[in-house]
Amino acid sequence: MKFMRVVCAVLLCAAFVGAQNQAGEPKANTPAPSVQEERPRTPEGPPTPMTTPGTIEKQPLHVLPYSPSLDLTAMDRSADPCADFYQYTCGGWLKNNPMPPDQAAWSVYGKLQHENEQFLWGILDEASRTNPKLDAVQQKIGDYFAACMDESAVEKLGASPLKPMLDRIAGLKSIADIPDFLAQAHLASQGSGLMFGFGSNQDYGDASQVIAFASAGGLGLPDRDYYTKTDAKMQETRRRYEQHVQRMLELLGDTPQQAAAGAKVVMRMETALAQASLTRAERRDPYKLYHKFSSAQLASLTPEFQWSRYLSASGIGDVKSINVTEPEFFKAMAAQLKTEPLDNWRRYLRWHVVHEKAPYLSHNFVDEDFSFYRKYLRGVAEQQPRWKRCVHYVDRDLGEALGQEFVRRTFPSKTKADVLRMTEFIEQAMADEIEKLDWMTPATKQQALVKLNAIRNKIGYPDKWRDYSSVEVKSGDFVGDVSRATIFESRRQLNKIGKPLDRTEWDMTPPTVNAYYNPQMNDMNFPAGVLQPPLYDSKLDDAPNYGNTGGTIGHELTHGFDDEGRQFDAAGDLKDWWTKQDADAFEQRVQCVRDQYAQYVIVDDIKINSKLTSGEDVADLGGTLLAYLAWKKASAGQSLESRDGLTPDQRFFVGYAQWACENQRAENLRVSAITNPHSPGKYRVNGIVSDLPEFQKAFGCKPNQPMVNAKQCKVW
Ligand SMILES: [Zn+2]
Repeated sequence: MKFMRVVCAVLLCAAFVGAQNQAGEPKANTPAPSVQEERPRTPEGPPTPMTTPGTIEKQPLHVLPYSPSLDLTAMDRSADPCADFYQYTCGGWLKNNPMPPDQAAWSVYGKLQHENEQFLWGILDEASRTNPKLDAVQQKIGDYFAACMDESAVEKLGASPLKPMLDRIAGLKSIADIPDFLAQAHLASQGSGLMFGFGSNQDYGDASQVIAFASAGGLGLPDRDYYTKTDAKMQETRRRYEQHVQRMLELLGDTPQQAAAGAKVVMRMETALAQASLTRAERRDPYKLYHKFSSAQLASLTPEFQWSRYLSASGIGDVKSINVTEPEFFKAMAAQLKTEPLDNWRRYLRWHVVHEKAPYLSHNFVDEDFSFYRKYLRGVAEQQPRWKRCVHYVDRDLGEALGQEFVRRTFPSKTKADVLRMTEFIEQAMADEIEKLDWMTPATKQQALVKLNAIRNKIGYPDKWRDYSSVEVKSGDFVGDVSRATIFESRRQLNKIGKPLDRTEWDMTPPTVNAYYNPQMNDMNFPAGVLQPPLYDSKLDDAPNYGNTGGTIGHELTHGFDDEGRQFDAAGDLKDWWTKQDADAFEQRVQCVRDQYAQYVIVDDIKINSKLTSGEDVADLGGTLLAYLAWKKASAGQSLESRDGLTPDQRFFVGYAQWACENQRAENLRVSAITNPHSPGKYRVNGIVSDLPEFQKAFGCKPNQPMVNAKQCKVW
């Protein structure tokens, strides 16, 4: 029962979007998700392996592969940069990196993630062998990985690990018993699929305090829109989903008739919950998610659900206040507790229990889960190999233990210091830009600078490692291991309620290839995993590194001031510090970006929902400009030379664009169009450069060319 934080990542907004679990989804509201003896990365050991284009390496790695942050082979220099800059910078990459059969999308980020995983596999493979020299942390991650890799033990157990939970569902005597069951089930489950999500988070009104949060959830499809849209494709998807639910219930031993009836009930109940849920675009507004209730008030909001029983079974007893993110959702849930008979609730709960645990069960469950969520919904041809799924589970469940090993091997203190310096230059560039803005009043500027100065820069890994010593890992009991690790994390989250905030915490693990800004913490977080080549390349000069990693830093920085972030002040409190005049001027500029992106086609006739993506689009635009300005300042007085036929400015922009190269399946693009607040890579490049005179000058683009917008948008 992990709970969301308001976190916006460069690739995925974890707060408002269900984290996408590769083995089954949606595991909504999971935090992103989401190091010191240092050793240089490459000089020692075997020669650096090269990734063969289009193939996925199948062995554990002991050294990370290297590709430069400006990769000439990724370019297509036959393309005109002023006609299609994405093709010019990424054309070679797109050709050389066909989609692996187990992927829904394949990108520079995804490929680096894959290489990191192979490297983590190397660490875990070593740690899972008997070796008296392993320390306690290495032993724990090794044992967890070994239990996951022990496929024959998993197969032998079949569905039996679910039996205690299913027996409890069968044994429910009345609707009034549901809260006790649910509290226990929530402790052992990730995400908010079981009726709703419950956990802890900072109080929107007072960021220094942690309070309980109850959030909307209860769905099996990736978004509420899947239940409400009426087009033919969505109707087909709902039919396929119902068949999937039916097959899963059959795997639990239901007859086909029972299972079909069960699937119909699940669909009806989830549809009612979806209809009462806010849309993803609405959830970008924190005021819509802030409703503090005392437990007595909550009891009267939903008399059919006894919160006192739920809270006491959760082990937290009474709490002073609970933020109910979507009261209408809870009313709809309570209405169903009145109208749906106990037997239907049993069906609903059985489905969600098996859905949640399916990825860890025997192959018949894993395959059925894959065939709907990955194959049908996202167009993925093949299941990921077991080692990869197991690496993912260790990273997710014991991430700061595995992260220690990753950091020790890949993240020298010099990289940390260099990235911190780059971050400071970019923050200075933002301060200079804010002072110069012609649309912001002096009072608001002053507040913006206070907020900017208060941002905490977290680079690489947390100062203090999480201690997992109380998590028991048993060989031959992988489902149990996942449950115990999940209960550990749930209790850790619940224990924060009523206590002051720990500002040193991270929401992403160190090997993660992603980054985020959290407005309530007012911090930027760049895990060691995202500071590796080809994203950050200590072997290359500043131009491509500022373009690439610098662009990401600028991106995260502007999130502090975007449609979500600007509503929080320097301390992280939800407080409006903008004058109306400034807010209107800001909105007007964002609208320019919205209108621009609304024209871009994602797949077939589906265009970008720029109401959902504008926060990210504005971050891309502002972030690139800030990185450019910072680079200019950092390199002032240096004589920069052209290389490989590219001027320094051109190298900055090629470096920028090459983070975004990606191939995507059409099916995955369809899911993204609904759930992803980021635009596809092509527009994260072309949409940005066509608004930047600095780019157009660097490549000598003419006013009537495609990479020169007639109306150039600028926010920051
Ligand atoms: Zn972002």
